[in-house]
Amino acid sequence: MISDDLRINDLKKVDPVFGQLSFDDHEQVIFCHDKDTGLKAIIGIHNTVLGPALGGTRMWPYQNEWEALNDVLRLSRGMTLKSAITGLNLGGGKAVIIGDSSTQKTPELMRKFGEFVHSLNGKYITAEDVGMTTEDMDIVREVTPYVTGISENKGGAGNPSPITAFGVFMGMKAAAKFKFGTDVLEDRKIFVQGVGSVGGALIEYLLDEGAKVTITDINKECLEKVAKRYHVDIFDGDFFDEQMDIYAPCALGATINDDTVYRLKTQIIAGAANNQLADENVHGRILKERGILYAPDFLINAGGIINVYAELENYGKQEIMRKTENIFNTTLEIFERSKREDITTNQAAVQIANERIEMRKLENSKR
Ligand code: NAD
Repeated sequence: MISDDLRINDLKKVDPVFGQLSFDDHEQVIFCHDKDTGLKAIIGIHNTVLGPALGGTRMWPYQNEWEALNDVLRLSRGMTLKSAITGLNLGGGKAVIIGDSSTQKTPELMRKFGEFVHSLNGKYITAEDVGMTTEDMDIVREVTPYVTGISENKGGAGNPSPITAFGVFMGMKAAAKFKFGTDVLEDRKIFVQGVGSVGGALIEYLLDEGAKVTITDINKECLEKVAKRYHVDIFDGDFFDEQMDIYAPCALGATINDDTVYRLKTQIIAGAANNQLADENVHGRILKERGILYAPDFLINAGGIINVYAELENYGKQEIMRKTENIFNTTLEIFERSKREDITTNQAAVQIANERIEMRKLENSKR
């Protein structure tokens, strides 16, 4: 006979969605499949208290469905926090498409994906993320209005990456101000990991300030091209033991993990990648104990969503830049709260975001 304990443990093992480690009171998780195009996608809607769930679509060759599901759960929660802390009237959502964007992405697949987005009647609004381009969003637009990040000539706000880079730059300057007493980055040794759309644009801001920039990327071709263009140093290999002032993760998430968190020799972490802390509680606390100032990713990489929000709210470039520049002030507020309450910077940021959601919930319940 199986004991109750054992039975519960067995059930836990097979809990496929709500039992996932990254499940955090998500409102809805939608699995999308189309045999003809080979589409396998998951849409995660985390929270819609502040507005429709907006977040990009990532196409990635995930090892398995667990990995894809956990990614979409983590990323969609991140979008809720991002929009809340940035003061946007948007909820958090995200989508992942399982597959290699360089070989498996077709217009038919994108159109089919758009149809699934459309079936949610605007509860989820999609946008671009890793493995997606503005042109892909234009294809999605053919079948649904619930998409942002479309081409400027089709009424969109265009490529969000340069704005994201500007926001990261603002967050980094705020971190420098808090840590070094000045926001000037001149002569600071900065490591940029990942020199794609955002990392590449960030370098320009850093060099303009006279920072000493070193770059690293797994894509050697891209690395050489960027190094040649900006005359910056390349670091080949594992850089986590290198001495630096600022580490800017601009590739994929979870680079601050059990392996790297004690090795990092930096004073500040400020970059564009989503979910930089493999475990936000564990690694956030270790960074705090080690005196490394972490600028919460979901706040400082919000330039992209500010840019696409303009498409929904019809505001122009000037307002986009003003809102993005304000990341500097919000980042400082978070650092101050973290110091005052002796909590990690990530905890401070999550608290502020959740307070805004709870306040709106209360307002809504009084209507
Ligand atoms: P991208 O695909 O253009 O660039 C990512 C770069 O990182 C690529 O050049 C890739 O080769 C490199 N890379 C991947 N793994 C690496 C590793 N282990 N080490 C070194 N380099 C590695 O993507 P992007 O649009 O520049 O976005 C970068 C990050 O910022 C992503 O995590 C994305 O989710 C996040 N982000 C982007 C935006 C935006 O507006 N594009 C907005 C918010 C957050």
